Amino acid sequence: MFTGFTRSKHLPRYAGVFPNISRCNHSCGPNASARFDEETMAMRLFSRRPIAPGEQITLSYVVGTMSCARRQEELKTKYLFTCECDYCKPTKPSRPSRPLKHLYWNIVHQPTNNKFDLQAEIFASDIRRSQLAFRLEHAETLWVEWLSPSSKQSDKDLIQFHEDALVVIAQEGLHLMRITHVAYLAHACAALEDNGGFRRWGNMLISLSEWTEGHEGGEQKKTWQDWVRDPMASPAWGLRVQAKKAKAKPQGIARA
Ligand SMILES: [Zn+2]
Repeated sequence: MFTGFTRSKHLPRYAGVFPNISRCNHSCGPNASARFDEETMAMRLFSRRPIAPGEQITLSYVVGTMSCARRQEELKTKYLFTCECDYCKPTKPSRPSRPLKHLYWNIVHQPTNNKFDLQAEIFASDIRRSQLAFRLEHAETLWVEWLSPSSKQSDKDLIQFHEDALVVIAQEGLHLMRITHVAYLAHACAALEDNGGFRRWGNMLISLSEWTEGHEGGEQKKTWQDWVRDPMASPAWGLRVQAKKAKAKPQGIARA
């Protein structure tokens, strides 16, 4: 049984039983996610990556960035089963799709031996997942620092931070977490006045987002579509270019 609780501007609290979505099994790297749409009062199921014909549709019943031990504990307590998904019981070493370049992610990456060791694999996965949660919170600090004239980060640093996050997210099967990093990448391109980059990431964001069907979701989607048509209208347009100009200006210190 799958029960959804959420808060709404229309109702203080409500709950529902969704017989179709209830049939989705759990995975710690799910290929779908469900979201309650307050405007249509319906639970909606979204694919998070391409799903092959005949492939089982899975959801995560727990917070994916928790450690394997904590996920198992919660699944056992609330749902009375032991998870044997590919992320809890890997059968081969996990590798990122490409080498990680940003310092933060490079440090986190724990290469495991070629000789398969289950505990070492789970330990490395736990670290990646906890860092995905931590770095997501850290992303705003990096963004604000990057836009200040005294920023220590290069443009490449900021972009690599988010691009590497997408690699780690894919490695852990937590595709739902992509949206925030894709949005930062789009805004970073806008801040650099990079039309093509903004359109590429903006279009990806539009395709990934779980826009609600009613008025509010339609407005959000339309806003992004307008920005993709006219990147100069996006709120971050030119911010980094201006910060660099401010840094380049002489300080105007009076000399005796
Ligand atoms: Zn699992």
